[in-house]
Amino acid sequence: MITYTGGCHCGRVRFEVIAPRDLRVTDCDCSICSMSGYLHLTVPKSDFRLLSGVQVLTTYQFNTHTARHLFCSVCGIKSFYVPRSHPDGYSVNARCLDEGSVEQMTVVPVDGKNWEKTHLAAKP
Ligand SMILES: [Zn+2]
Repeated sequence: MITYTGGCHCGRVRFEVIAPRDLRVTDCDCSICSMSGYLHLTVPKSDFRLLSGVQVLTTYQFNTHTARHLFCSVCGIKSFYVPRSHPDGYSVNARCLDEGSVEQMTVVPVDGKNWEKTHLAAKP
């Protein structure tokens, strides 16, 4: 496990996240992720620390209002958020990790378009 740093485009939002050296991220095809090209690195809350930018974060919610889509109100980049699939964790946008810090990354496609069917059906 190593500590990565990252943030939004304008640099107001900065965070650090603890994750494996060989990153496994998911590429979701749901309505919002496909539009923004978001790559999910999902971590428990304890492995994420917001360093700055809490005052510029804006929340966008839709559908079930479980996910809290947090984006920078200055540059518009969603560098992390609280996902519907893991409401007690964070999803970090792997595209927003600092350049040069990522050594290995495997991208796994996820069927977010049919989230209700696939994700909920998998739960006991
Ligand atoms: Zn920003």
